Amino acid sequence: MFTSLKGRGVIVTGASKGIGRGIALGFASAGCQVLVVSRHLGEAEAVADEIIAAGGSALGLAADVTRQVEMQAMADTAIRSFGSIDILCANAGIFPAAKLGVMTEADFDAVMGTNLKGTFLAVSACLPAMKSRNKGRIILTSSITGPVTGYPGWSHYGASKAGQLGFMRTAAIELARFGITVNAVLPGNIATEGLSGLGEEYVRGMEASVPMRRLGSVMDIAHAALFFASDEAGYITGQSLVVDGGQILPESLAALEA
Ligand code: NAP
Repeated sequence: MFTSLKGRGVIVTGASKGIGRGIALGFASAGCQVLVVSRHLGEAEAVADEIIAAGGSALGLAADVTRQVEMQAMADTAIRSFGSIDILCANAGIFPAAKLGVMTEADFDAVMGTNLKGTFLAVSACLPAMKSRNKGRIILTSSITGPVTGYPGWSHYGASKAGQLGFMRTAAIELARFGITVNAVLPGNIATEGLSGLGEEYVRGMEASVPMRRLGSVMDIAHAALFFASDEAGYITGQSLVVDGGQILPESLAALEA
């Protein structure tokens, strides 16, 4: 049985859709107060309204993870509204595809800026509040792509997601003395608006490559985030948890089909 997270203040970036929305709903169901963050206020507020309509506590906020001043405003809003930042889920990410030779410097910078620098900026903004209370939980949404696997078109994305884990390991050491843990969830292929945008053929191909023969749900990822946020996970830091229905396991197509 896990200790209740009721009343804890949670920030989820990239929470207007997909995995972030699932994480926000998961923490709200656990009784947390959730700051739902995305670049578009109306969409963030719609998720906050959904949480409130279900009896939970949430607030929507427009903030871009690539902008330091907006990440500072995000942290300030959470402290003003909830009194503390207990948990940060640095989830916002983009995954436009471009193969080498076609990929531009701007493409590379955009993916790194959101996925890797955005992680750094979100974490940095929340640290003073966490350090002052000698406790905190930071949960990054990385990916199997980059840390474990590769896929043509996503070299920049894979580098950003592997980069998050490099960031995490040193951050975990630096922050351990402040009672702050930093861990990462590595989703496989999860049914989200962003994934649907990659097209029906991609989605069907992915489903077929997962031993469980289904895409993951956003709640599959939310449950892993809730575990890392729990008091019971307090001695776990700098670790990553793959949540992929077994997708990275088969050594070959024959192994998948046997
Ligand atoms: P999604 O459906 O496209 O949703 C992305 C969310 O991020 C939206 O709420 C979007 O809202 C927000 N966002 C994008 N850029 C932002 C920025 N600069 N600042 C603030 N918010 C921003 O994506 P998803 O599939 O849920 O993916 C979420 C995370 O999981 C990403 O980090 C992704 O790399 C990772 N992931 C996903 C999968 C998968 O299969 N879906 C697998 C592995 C890892 P706005 O546009 O309103 O800002």
